[in-house]
Amino acid sequence: MPIDKNKMVGPGATLGIIGGGQLGLMTSLAAARLGIKCHIYCPEKDSPAFAVSYAHTCAPYEDLDALARFADSVDVVTFEFENIPADSVRVLAEHVPVRPGWKVLETAQERVTEKSFFNGLGIETAPWRAVASRTQLDNAVAEIGLPAVLKTCRFGYDGKGQAKIKTLADLDSAWQAMAGGPAILEGFVDFTLEASVLVARGLDGESACFDLVENRHKNHILDVTIAPAPLPAEMMARAKEIAIRAAEALDLVGLLAVELFVTADGHLLVNEMAPRPHNSGHWTMDACYTDQFEQFVRAVCGLPLGSPARFADAVMTNLIGNDVTRWRDLMAESGAMLHLYGKSEARPGRKMGHVTRITPRTDLPGGTVDH
Ligand code: AMP
Repeated sequence: MPIDKNKMVGPGATLGIIGGGQLGLMTSLAAARLGIKCHIYCPEKDSPAFAVSYAHTCAPYEDLDALARFADSVDVVTFEFENIPADSVRVLAEHVPVRPGWKVLETAQERVTEKSFFNGLGIETAPWRAVASRTQLDNAVAEIGLPAVLKTCRFGYDGKGQAKIKTLADLDSAWQAMAGGPAILEGFVDFTLEASVLVARGLDGESACFDLVENRHKNHILDVTIAPAPLPAEMMARAKEIAIRAAEALDLVGLLAVELFVTADGHLLVNEMAPRPHNSGHWTMDACYTDQFEQFVRAVCGLPLGSPARFADAVMTNLIGNDVTRWRDLMAESGAMLHLYGKSEARPGRKMGHVTRITPRTDLPGGTVDH
């Protein structure tokens, strides 16, 4: 039977999610609130999302038979993890609507494709060059200058697969860190702050943006998100425009996080994007009418989007590794909203939970949010 690309599903339906981490867990909880069941597909047996889902399949992302069976058991498939092979997505799409589609995943999986996509839309990024050999690295450094950052084109996250190059003496070790794989050299951006913006886009082409936030990192991992970002309204509007333009160009159905560098002279440079819920959107669970996970479910199920309006300012702090041992104090703290992911082992660098603290908005005429 041909796949109905415009299929809408609602309460009672089953949403298939590729990936079973905390993003899958929180998506599953949001879906349950709408009466939608989730079937999680993830290769790791202790996946956090398994604990709160209607069904799960524990199999490799390359197991095309298991993927086909999974796809036959659900109404729509989405992803909380975008680094899935092309063949796997193709098999899923032969059985069921897949949202977002392959074009979106493909663009987000590879840094050269991603940067070219944004530049093609006239959206600024750091200056960059594709680097496939040591000689090309020398040439790229000569063109872009130092300092710079060398990154693997694929599978980089939380600063993994990256090497900062301050002087020519760093070139050998930086190139070795790429393990011979294709890389990208980026000029180092002297940013004043890092920000991100999340946009949802529905099956009908309507989009809805959450407010722009500031992100602070520790050891290359997101530490704190501040909502809203302390930036002028004009800059927030520009960031939203960038996200919407990207979502439209990708014909996205789902959620897109766009990470940005803000420079002292007011430029917004795109760093990267992720076509799924994002750590920098966790604050929306406690400070917006519709949070990022519910919005994601609504978008991929073809349902009307909810209001992304923010009724409070928020500060979200990640609990990384042993930070989570403070859970008892955080539970006792008045007003702290604690979210734990149920991971059994607190390894260093592992995201174990987050805590959000909100302050009701006082900047609204009549005390209400326009949504
Ligand atoms: P990424 O994996 O690309 O998100 O990079 C992780 C972090 O490294 C970013 O959040 C920045 O703090 C830093 N970073 C990455 N690329 C650059 C760049 N071109 N200039 C300055 N800092 C960067």
